[in-house]
Amino acid sequence: MAMSEFEIIRRNFASRGIDRGDVVLGIGDDGAVVRMPSGCDLVTVVDTLVAGVHFPHETRPEDVGHKALAVNLSDVAAMGAVPAWATLALTLPHADEAWLSAFARGFFGLAQRYEVQLVGGDTTHGPLTVTVQIQGWVHSGRAVRRSGARPGDVIYLTGAVGDAGLALRAWQQQQALSATDGEYLFSRLHRPIPRCREGEALSGEVSAMVDVSDGLAADLGHILEASGVGATLNLHSIPLSPSFVAVTGSGKYYMNEAERLRLALSAGDDYELCFTAPEAQCRRVEDIFSNFSCGCHAIGIIETAPGLRLRQADGTLLSLERNGYEHFAQEPGNAGN
Ligand SMILES: [Mg+2]
Repeated sequence: MAMSEFEIIRRNFASRGIDRGDVVLGIGDDGAVVRMPSGCDLVTVVDTLVAGVHFPHETRPEDVGHKALAVNLSDVAAMGAVPAWATLALTLPHADEAWLSAFARGFFGLAQRYEVQLVGGDTTHGPLTVTVQIQGWVHSGRAVRRSGARPGDVIYLTGAVGDAGLALRAWQQQQALSATDGEYLFSRLHRPIPRCREGEALSGEVSAMVDVSDGLAADLGHILEASGVGATLNLHSIPLSPSFVAVTGSGKYYMNEAERLRLALSAGDDYELCFTAPEAQCRRVEDIFSNFSCGCHAIGIIETAPGLRLRQADGTLLSLERNGYEHFAQEPGNAGN
């Protein structure tokens, strides 16, 4: 590399972003030292993004920086935890100053928003790969697991699903979308806003939670498996954004109802929260979400019978397997986290 590792760190990552009072020792030593709030459990998450696997090679560096942090913040949120400290391992094909400074802009922009401090990192030479680890805290015993869902619990979903999957298809096919829908859908793909405040507020309030990174059906499946239960989703209750509905409603991305739902349930990269709550808690959940603009929808019910049933408005069940006419020959090449 033209620039030394130390020079890369110093120029782009040292002394950037916020200064948390609980960081005893940040970047620059063999390790970081932080002080945990008393009465709390430490929550640790890590996620790796590989160019060409988790994001297209041509993705703007600001967006890579933002998304690498966002996908981890989403995991912290899914535990009901408060994010605090991050470490970053960057593998770079070459030390491109302009790329690094744009990457750092995206990374620190989001870190600032959630008061996360970068406390350490590592750089190596190789194919572009970004690994972020975040540590945060939750009041002792209040972390939300995947294993707590019980028959009768209501299944909730924040925001809307399918936007990022649709944007990825448009990106791969290099098809233009209308300015308004395009801007919204591409921001959902490249600059997802993790549901951090929402996740924190649900700590100790809900029975199980997961973030939606691999697709709603797959991620809800993790809750069902860990909890030893099944579920029915009411497909007419699955929240879809106005842009998703508009773009799939006519023109080159037209999809019938079944195709549209299959995309929304399986494309992934949504970074919404899916959680379950006993019926007695539903009022409380709705109160919590009156404070948040993303909204929260009851989409189904946990049942004793194993498996996931997808009930359409007419009462028949939808299969997620694709059959019949398929608009898009190529599957999305993206993988969630
Ligand atoms: Mg996750």
